[in-house]
Amino acid sequence: MADSSVNNVQQLDLPLRIDLPAVKKLLRAHRANARTEALAAELTEAVRAAARPKAIYRQAHVDCAGNGTVEIDGIRFSSRALSKNLAGRDTVFPYIATVGHEVDKIDIPRRDMWRQYCFDVIKTVVLVTSLDFLTEHLKEKYAIESVATMNPGEIADFPIEQQRPLFALFGGAERQIGVTLTKGGAMHPTKSRSGIFFPNDTGFVTCRLCTQQRCPGRSAAYDPEVVRGYLGTPV
Ligand code: SF4
Repeated sequence: MADSSVNNVQQLDLPLRIDLPAVKKLLRAHRANARTEALAAELTEAVRAAARPKAIYRQAHVDCAGNGTVEIDGIRFSSRALSKNLAGRDTVFPYIATVGHEVDKIDIPRRDMWRQYCFDVIKTVVLVTSLDFLTEHLKEKYAIESVATMNPGEIADFPIEQQRPLFALFGGAERQIGVTLTKGGAMHPTKSRSGIFFPNDTGFVTCRLCTQQRCPGRSAAYDPEVVRGYLGTPV
């Protein structure tokens, strides 16, 4: 049962959009041939029929932020970058989004590694487009021009352990969308994402602080000057 004290959790069924050209583009980087294209099309149809992406989010109040900590609705987070981003702000939007467990009922033979990989890529595309939809939904609903997000586990300054306080903001409501958290902070289904959206008038992008060089989702280059501004020293 969800904690009844968390009474403003909103649940959203996310429209299923699979950009087949985006899937093919990601796969082509690994293997370009007609068989891969046919497999991508076949799996895309299967995922389209099965997947039920969804999200929960809520409006939350920043009690205080500074010196590397943030308190949101009485729950404490530790992150220098988050604390800098939320200093002087009033409202943020914690969220948990998932492609849903339904899609994992599609039977993919364990030994067919290439099929497993294609399936994984398609689910990633579903998750990314679902997050885009959630972002636009929040911007429109709350009349926010631009938002940024920080996600536990993406950078060392906001580690995976920060999933605990983030989930605490939902008081168990994540079970409504079938998401669970392991002791180590991993989410199930694995194609899930959690984080905190906040109004972004500074052009903040976490990628500028992130050292994961080969990330296909990178949207901005690592920038040691930005790192210095947020964390004091380059990582
Ligand atoms: S580079 Fe990738 S992992 Fe790092 S913050 Fe950007 S999207 Fe996230």
